[in-house]
Amino acid sequence: MEDYEEKVSISLPVDSEGYLGRVCPNNQCKMYFKIHPESASDNETCTCPYCGNKAHNNDYATDDQSETGNSLIFEQINDLLEKELKNMEFDIKPKGDFGLGVSLKVKSGPPIPLHHYQEKQLETKIECSKCGLKYTVYGVFAFCPDCGQHNSLQILNRSLEVVQKLLTISEDAEPEIANKMIENALEDCVSAFDGFGRELFKVSAKKASDEEKAKKVSFQNILGMQRKAIELFGIDPQNSLTRNEWDSTVMIFQKRHLLSHKMGVVDEEYIQKSQDRTARIRRKIKVSKEEVNSLCENLSKLAEYLSSEIAKLS
Ligand SMILES: [Zn+2]
Ligand SMILES: [Zn+2]
Repeated sequence: MEDYEEKVSISLPVDSEGYLGRVCPNNQCKMYFKIHPESASDNETCTCPYCGNKAHNNDYATDDQSETGNSLIFEQINDLLEKELKNMEFDIKPKGDFGLGVSLKVKSGPPIPLHHYQEKQLETKIECSKCGLKYTVYGVFAFCPDCGQHNSLQILNRSLEVVQKLLTISEDAEPEIANKMIENALEDCVSAFDGFGRELFKVSAKKASDEEKAKKVSFQNILGMQRKAIELFGIDPQNSLTRNEWDSTVMIFQKRHLLSHKMGVVDEEYIQKSQDRTARIRRKIKVSKEEVNSLCENLSKLAEYLSSEIAKLS
């Protein structure tokens, strides 16, 4: 039996797209995700995309995989045993008048039933921008199971690219529809940035001067966010942009506020906060495609700066 360990090996089945299911071994988490083993490095440590738990790859097997693994191993051991017994087959014919014949014949038993299962469908497919691992998760935000990098910046940039594509499509629409598309694009930009920022501050909350406060910062109000980034992390997001870029970002965030809460009609508060000298009270605010395009670029720079500055903190 000693050398069976070397003769028996199993490889776990992957789904139709080549993904392998995994379950976080952390009892508080136990969440399911999938990785594409062909895109993985030979790093033996796996990071849970949801809770950031780090453990050996083998600890992430699902119950189905363990059961399948066991039945595959039994099948192989059974085959090996059968082969060895076959080698021992003999047939001794009776000798003389009262001799006794003995024989050993090995017959195959019924096949061992294999445990069958299907991996689950998940919600977001990601290819890590740092290490190239392909993985899928529930929800959107995640740590890369291979290199551990969080995907918040990657998800933001993906959303901003979609916004820019929509802006290009708006060029062919009639004016009323085009305007609506541009306003929606602005709303999408701010939502994507808010989603990114909340997630970044949440996963970095331990580095903040006030952990609970860091988990509640809204990124829809750019000036409020700036104050809190300075207070909580000692980082001023304004440093990522030129004066003009920063001012136009502040202004377009105020425009978004008007569109979302005041039907886009200019009021005193807007004039005061945005420093917009072209706007007139009680008139509708105007948003151009170019403004939203520049916003996408500025938000991308701002987000990258925040991510890398926070990453430097211990
Ligand atoms: Zn986990
Ligand atoms: Zn990675």
